[in-house]
Amino acid sequence: MKNTMKTISKLSPQRGAGIISKPIPTIQDDEILIKVLTASVCGTDVHIYDYNDWAKSRIKIPQVMGHELAGEVIEIGSKVTSVKLGDIVSAETHIICGTCEFCLSGQGHICQNTEILGVDRDGAFAEYIAIPAKNAWINNPKIDPAYLCVQEPLGNAIHTVTSGEVKGKTIAIVGVGPIGLMAVNVAKALGARLIIAVDINSYRLNLSKELGAHMALNSLNDDVTKIILEATNGYGVDVVCEMSGAPTALHQAFSFLKKGGRLSILGLPDHPMTIDVANEIVFKGITIHGITGRRIMTTWQQGKELIDAGLLDLDKIVTHILPFDDYEHAFELMHSGNCGKIVLRVSIGDHK
Ligand SMILES: [Zn+2]
Ligand SMILES: [Zn+2]
Repeated sequence: MKNTMKTISKLSPQRGAGIISKPIPTIQDDEILIKVLTASVCGTDVHIYDYNDWAKSRIKIPQVMGHELAGEVIEIGSKVTSVKLGDIVSAETHIICGTCEFCLSGQGHICQNTEILGVDRDGAFAEYIAIPAKNAWINNPKIDPAYLCVQEPLGNAIHTVTSGEVKGKTIAIVGVGPIGLMAVNVAKALGARLIIAVDINSYRLNLSKELGAHMALNSLNDDVTKIILEATNGYGVDVVCEMSGAPTALHQAFSFLKKGGRLSILGLPDHPMTIDVANEIVFKGITIHGITGRRIMTTWQQGKELIDAGLLDLDKIVTHILPFDDYEHAFELMHSGNCGKIVLRVSIGDHK
């Protein structure tokens, strides 16, 4: 095996990224080395590429980017028993401590000491990546790795949609970027009665209809609150999944969420925002859930079951599969919004 590998890394404190070679990682006793087959582009990668305020405060340059991956296990540490050579795995990207109060009570997704792949340690936009074996999720090798790498953001969608009841419910997905599109598809798979997608991008709204949305509303042109209230006998929807991070959209969501309903928030507003606690929360008797990461590994199991049962349209959610070197095109597409999930093919696997 050669000693170095190609990576897409953040190289300087300004917009952009570059391809540099780095030594292939060596593994600890409890780690595995993965030959990365595919890696998908996340909003987090876009933040790092753009070098926004969050990235400035968090990213140490140089940083190998990327965290959503599928690959083949080519080396295992001496203490690893849960994964074997040749397994096709994806990675839970939150590396948790296992010893804090949250980890010990089955809430590892809010671990006090979380480290994130591609943010706090070397990421997956690389030919090889070392991860703790406990973070490996063993895939069905019959499924195309182009769809396996998206399970990590899919898990965000699943966690958000399933933080309460879904079957038979009316549900609005606010913000149908890649994770919102997945949420639409998950809501459909789990039997939501009425699925309404809300966004300002017509490409993604059209795609949301193919993935199961009964109504796709463009908040630039449509009177979203009026239309949703009319569609729900004046009551509003049972569930809102907020995935836009746009304060105006989040604020509007209170107006079309039914009394007693559930608001699950994954989207991250850039700045603090004002909420009318009395009228928007208390008197409406709603429940608000903050969603971070995936339930480890419950959410992964839910995703696997949906994928293996053929209940998701990952071939529609993944709109672009690009060569590794074409990463700049990927980031341009993400900025345009005219894409679903973008996958980079990193290496060609030997497996089938
Ligand atoms: Zn991600
Ligand atoms: Zn912990």
